[in-house]
Amino acid sequence: MPRAEIGRNVGTGKEGHMGLQEQKRHFSVNLLDWYMINRRDLPWRRHNNPYFTWVSEIMLQQTRVDTVIPYFNRFIGNFPTVQALAEAPEEEVLKNWEGLGYYSRARNLQAAARQVMELHGGEMPQDKQSVFALKGVGPYTAGAILSIAFNQPQPAVDGNVMRVLSRYFLIDEDIMKGSTRVLMEELAGELIPEGRARDFNQALMELGALVCTPKAPHCLTCPVMEQCSGRIAGRELTLPVKTKAKPPRPEQRLVALVEGRGAHRGRVLVRQRPETGLLARMWELPHVLAAPAAAGKAAAPLADEPAMALLAGSLWAEGFAARPEGLATHAEHVFSHIVWSLQVYKCTEQDQSSELPLIAAEARAAYHAQAASMAESAPAAQSSSSTAAQAAQEAMTGKGDGLTYQWIGPEDMEKLAFPNVFLKLLRNYFAGAYDEVTE
Ligand code: SF4
Repeated sequence: MPRAEIGRNVGTGKEGHMGLQEQKRHFSVNLLDWYMINRRDLPWRRHNNPYFTWVSEIMLQQTRVDTVIPYFNRFIGNFPTVQALAEAPEEEVLKNWEGLGYYSRARNLQAAARQVMELHGGEMPQDKQSVFALKGVGPYTAGAILSIAFNQPQPAVDGNVMRVLSRYFLIDEDIMKGSTRVLMEELAGELIPEGRARDFNQALMELGALVCTPKAPHCLTCPVMEQCSGRIAGRELTLPVKTKAKPPRPEQRLVALVEGRGAHRGRVLVRQRPETGLLARMWELPHVLAAPAAAGKAAAPLADEPAMALLAGSLWAEGFAARPEGLATHAEHVFSHIVWSLQVYKCTEQDQSSELPLIAAEARAAYHAQAASMAESAPAAQSSSSTAAQAAQEAMTGKGDGLTYQWIGPEDMEKLAFPNVFLKLLRNYFAGAYDEVTE
């Protein structure tokens, strides 16, 4: 939509004939006035510290303010400066991020802190190009840092801001399109009152978070409602226009809670994920893909008997002899592009040399049959994704590259970083929640 056409659909009442310039001025003035009275007292707003702004903006991506506050306070307490973050062991940084999800944010933040140390002497750069060059910093975060920390008139446009602007200016363009983002950035930049970038950008974010909310905007208490074209046209609930993202791909996975015996008594087997990819370098319980679901279909649970045989075979392929005892629980872990449905089995470690019929025969057979069937189905599934091919590879090799293993007790939970789902399973296990599980 050309800029000149923004607002052309404004209703036919008196308000509808106002000029675009007046509509913009109304927005900027009233929004700022409202913010100066209603702004929330958030920990990263109490100091004008570029590092604090940066950390908070990375944490706030995909995460609610209420959730972020305790994480932010702890993170800044443990890594109070760029230097402290750059020099910390990665394991410690991940541990401080545990539970927030999207762990690549934490790894990128630390990598960027090292960039700031090496290239800028530990001082946050103040030019757009250098900030944008930091790992994990996209156009929104760069704009947020430059405006909030340095009061530079740079737009900071995320989904919340696009929702507000789509409604106020009645913009019908799909906000998933790059061209719409460019339009929004231009518009948001024009709206910033001279010398007020810091407050104005935060005001815009605040309006999106508290008033112009996705499902139930509070138009009656909105500071810009008088000249909001979306409200006047009765379109506040149908804007912004947004094409639906692809639904996440379901995967059924079998998880082993292996109890140690002998030297490992009182401990549980965990493994560390590879250096790169999903949840890189995080710790987890061993698990294996039972079956990739067809595109758009739900993953189906596997019956216990074949599931336990497959799991024992998978553990055997990873170099561990263990006997599955029974189903402990079900769990789910949702990523942006995958949903794991987990069947969790309690298993007991076995002597590698002992006779273990399940592992020696049935499990190996079940494991190889599953691997072969995944390999066969791989070419057919490749049009939607390479999941089946990856699954076949995972199943065939078992031990993937770069995996390491540890037997851990409850005290080790404080040292290793786990994704939420495994954290909960392990805590429940150590609290005795699965004590009754028997074959
Ligand atoms: S009046 Fe309603 S739709 Fe318009 S900006 Fe305010 S809350 Fe959003």
